[in-house]
Amino acid sequence: MGLNGTQEINITPALPTDGKTGEMGMVMANLSELVGWGRKYSLHPLLFGLACCAIEQITAGMSRFDISRFGSEVFRASPRQADLLIVSGRVSNKMAPVIQRLHAQMLEPNWVIAMGDCASVGGPFNNYAIIQGVDKLIPVDVYVPGCPPRPEALFYAITRLQEKVQKFGIGERVSGS
Ligand code: SF4
Repeated sequence: MGLNGTQEINITPALPTDGKTGEMGMVMANLSELVGWGRKYSLHPLLFGLACCAIEQITAGMSRFDISRFGSEVFRASPRQADLLIVSGRVSNKMAPVIQRLHAQMLEPNWVIAMGDCASVGGPFNNYAIIQGVDKLIPVDVYVPGCPPRPEALFYAITRLQEKVQKFGIGERVSGS
């Protein structure tokens, strides 16, 4: 008992009697797997959108959907700071050289998601002004069906992309291959 009549309680945590302290100690890991793990949870998408699908892409970043749960919330305004290009919308002939230039300026290794029917295959616009799939310009890693796809579909694509990113080792992938 204390001087004022209250009971003193010892809050020092009891040490385990088996000698284990709970500290991490030594961890063995494959360097390539560690780099892949780091890359997949730190994707930096380019701040880029083309048409109506871009509205869904923007919505994915809002609090209701919260793309940051997948480690991909830091949209970069410069391709030199981005490693993920989400092509969200129809690709016109006029935009083709712009997309190719942006893609060429991105970090290595980089990744591409074709978001929506238009970016994947031209969508309903089967005409001379629209390129029938952005994969005719740049390599695509994941396609997202829908017109437009909901934010959840984009998240699913990101998780599939993360699986792909994890499998690539150090220096294994060169953009455009
Ligand atoms: S897929 Fe549909 S929603 Fe997306 S850009 Fe094309 S027309 Fe618009």
